[in-house]
Amino acid sequence: SVVFDGVQKSYDGENLVVKNLNLDIAQGEFLTMLGPSGSGKTTCLMMLAGFEPATHGEIYLNGNPINNVPPHKRGIGMVFQNYALFPHMSVAENLAFPLKVRGMGKSESEDRIKRALEMVELGEFGSRRPAQLSGGQQQRVAVARALVFDPELVLMDEPLGALDKQLREQMQYEIKHIHDNLGVTVVYVTHDQTEALTMSDRVAVFNDGIIQQLSPPDVLYESPDNSFVAQFIGENN
Ligand code: ATP
Repeated sequence: SVVFDGVQKSYDGENLVVKNLNLDIAQGEFLTMLGPSGSGKTTCLMMLAGFEPATHGEIYLNGNPINNVPPHKRGIGMVFQNYALFPHMSVAENLAFPLKVRGMGKSESEDRIKRALEMVELGEFGSRRPAQLSGGQQQRVAVARALVFDPELVLMDEPLGALDKQLREQMQYEIKHIHDNLGVTVVYVTHDQTEALTMSDRVAVFNDGIIQQLSPPDVLYESPDNSFVAQFIGENN
């Protein structure tokens, strides 16, 4: 589980971009942070990943406080829109990297890489370079790389933002399928309402550093708590 306990964030020591975040994410949950640009979603992921310190409050992973745990020791997989693959490495070498960092031996690494690539239906592509793959295939490699070390928690920040509509829909389905099969906890960031509503167990609607509503998709859609949520969910739907 993930708990944000009274978490605040300021980059300049003055303005709070995350105001007082209290959020409890269950093991195995698919939770989406949805909201307009600048509402603080990515900042929340950065604090959870350990790339940005919280200005105030504490984050807990499975009951343990992690504010002072460095990123690579948190056991969190990540897929970011701009979290590029290493271009000079093959697909298999890209997947080997997070395993090497964790000191895993060669034969177990090879097994895991094979399984992870099969999971995203790229079993035959291990020896290719990223540039020899389509955008959707590259994004699948990024998903495989985030999952290859069996993390309990995966963070995804606009992972499908660069893809066209048809591919986005296909990848939404595939990510959801992987989530259901692995039972891994996913914290997903998007500003796409449809994506949030179709994929999530619960959606946290952000505006201006505050969660405006935290509900399952049907509740969010049918009974928004306030006019911001109603308007934001209503757009493009
Ligand atoms: P987007 O959907 O555009 O990514 P977001 O909801 O993820 O937006 P954040 O990226 O968390 O929002 O940004 C929240 C606020 O913090 C914004 O006002 C942004 O300008 C500011 N901010 C983000 N990162 C930094 C940084 N490294 N230094 C200073 N200010 C930052």
